[in-house]
Amino acid sequence: MRDVCAAFDEIAGLREKNAIALKVAKDRGRKVVGTYCLFSPVELIVAAGAIPVSLCGTSATPIPAAEKVLPRSLCPLIKSSYGFALTDTCPFFHFSDLLLAETTCDGKKKMYELLAQMKPLHLMQLPQVQDEAALDYWVLELKRLITRLEESFGVRITPEKLAGAVLLLNEERRSLKALQDVLKRRPAPISGIDLLTVLHNRGFTVDKREAIELIDRLTTELTELSDQGVSPFSDRTPRILLTGVPVGIGSEKVVRLVEELGGSVACFESCGGYKKVDPVLPGNDLLRSIAEKYLRVPCSCMSPNTGRLQLLEKLVREFDADGVIDLTWQGCHTYNVESFSVKRHLQETVQVPFLQIETDYSESDTEQLKVRIEAFLEVIGTRRGGRP
Ligand code: SF4
Ligand code: SF4
Repeated sequence: MRDVCAAFDEIAGLREKNAIALKVAKDRGRKVVGTYCLFSPVELIVAAGAIPVSLCGTSATPIPAAEKVLPRSLCPLIKSSYGFALTDTCPFFHFSDLLLAETTCDGKKKMYELLAQMKPLHLMQLPQVQDEAALDYWVLELKRLITRLEESFGVRITPEKLAGAVLLLNEERRSLKALQDVLKRRPAPISGIDLLTVLHNRGFTVDKREAIELIDRLTTELTELSDQGVSPFSDRTPRILLTGVPVGIGSEKVVRLVEELGGSVACFESCGGYKKVDPVLPGNDLLRSIAEKYLRVPCSCMSPNTGRLQLLEKLVREFDADGVIDLTWQGCHTYNVESFSVKRHLQETVQVPFLQIETDYSESDTEQLKVRIEAFLEVIGTRRGGRP
């Protein structure tokens, strides 16, 4: 993508640029709130005038330090996130004034207890069902967060500020959806690994409007490239939809292997991908609309989690996916157990080949994964009447 797409080059350098921009903003008195999850109601942080930053660990580097405290069998995402905090090697954690946490999976909940010893932390009690009673409760949790932000930062979150934040965040979601929708074209004009780089790096942007403008520019450039027939793939390249746990740069092993072995990751259903683009819908009560949007997140910590099955079925059709890979981090029981239902649902509806992969952030199983992914791509090629 480099050299043919100016916007991509800019986005690829965003992480470093934004670490500096964050320090400048801090020096000017802006507050920073670190988040760990798609359930974090970012609108409230923005309405408080603070900068939201994602602190989800996607690198194996800090894991050995984390394992001195946490069990080795824990999910690598949790170990990586905690390792960054423990070693103080993530500028975004370092500059955070407040950590925002939610009760999702057990491992994360217990990690938050440890993080609370390092920095001020606000824990939201997330209901694990998606009904009206849960929504009433979740609205109260959002109100509790408003109080915490107002008291911690000495600000007032007015209805006008909240409405402005909803507009901004919905605009961000619109731009991210438009970018990902370009990959509905066959062949996709950008590789999955490059798309992941973009989705990962833009998560560190301090200025959301600047990031939206950049993403829109990239979408336009990719559309033009596609119109000219430019693509890293052919129209026979097997298209993979990746679902399951969150992935990012540093934990991109499976995405890289799929594309090295001749596939194209054309859709990310996971948290940094399509799960993120669901907007706040208009309603009479803005706070309730925000609460509804977040309670709808189809994460495996919800029970039941039928929203994920519906979303997957829709995405398989829309992205014309030839196969689905369900990625599970070792130690993630909820995604691991849910894989059975996901496979069965996809077999009963869209009938695409399905592969579950359970792995971690290390390279120790790379050779074994190569064999499994290669065989999977061959199955797809055979089904489509030819080799990939
Ligand atoms: S998978 Fe679930 S718990 Fe993990 S970041 Fe996404 S929404 Fe949060
Ligand atoms: S991947 Fe699973 S175990 Fe890891 S933080 Fe997310 S939900 Fe928890």
